[in-house]
Amino acid sequence: MADDIDDLLDEVETKFCAKSPVKKDSSSRRREDTNPFGSKSKKPDRESHPALSKKSSSSKKLASEDDDLNSMIDDIIDGPEPPKTLQRQNSQTSTTPRTTSISQRRCNPVYLGGSADPMGLSSAVSQRMCDQLRCTSCDFKIVAFDNYEWDSTCEYLFFRNNVPDFKKLSTKLKKRKGCRAYACQCMWRSVKTVTKVEQDHQLKWVCGKHSL
Ligand SMILES: [Zn+2]
Ligand SMILES: [Zn+2]
Repeated sequence: MADDIDDLLDEVETKFCAKSPVKKDSSSRRREDTNPFGSKSKKPDRESHPALSKKSSSSKKLASEDDDLNSMIDDIIDGPEPPKTLQRQNSQTSTTPRTTSISQRRCNPVYLGGSADPMGLSSAVSQRMCDQLRCTSCDFKIVAFDNYEWDSTCEYLFFRNNVPDFKKLSTKLKKRKGCRAYACQCMWRSVKTVTKVEQDHQLKWVCGKHSL
């Protein structure tokens, strides 16, 4: 029994060796067996063992056996191809750096506006109120509240202690339709119309970049 299997295995080996281009394929298949994605390439091995033992019991039908062996070898050769191409595709996509698709842009010019003016990234063709403002003086992100204005009694320490907490800030926020109340920890503005930040020389507010 064991000898029969050995003979058949030898036969398979001989057939692999006889077809010289096939030999390359079979060696590349074996290399795949050692990699962690090779679970699919085990399939032909698992199929081949019961098939071989079945044939050893009827080893005298050599002609039909050869056909079986040929088709089996074909299966082995054809088998690993689809996972191989899949692997190639996967490795291509995984090595493509995803960071290239993320770009960041700054507003130019940087605008402040009232509650009706749309917020977002500003450019020469699209006038938007920057919603990523940062103060270079206190290094805080600017908060903005639509339809509010700052009470006239506001002073530096109030913002220093309360930005960006809306609940605390709301004690000095008055409802004013069309107005937008901006503040960092050192400066505050109530804005009703579109203005460029650079026109207000006291403000050290810059666009902190928009992710696209
Ligand atoms: Zn901006
Ligand atoms: Zn500030």
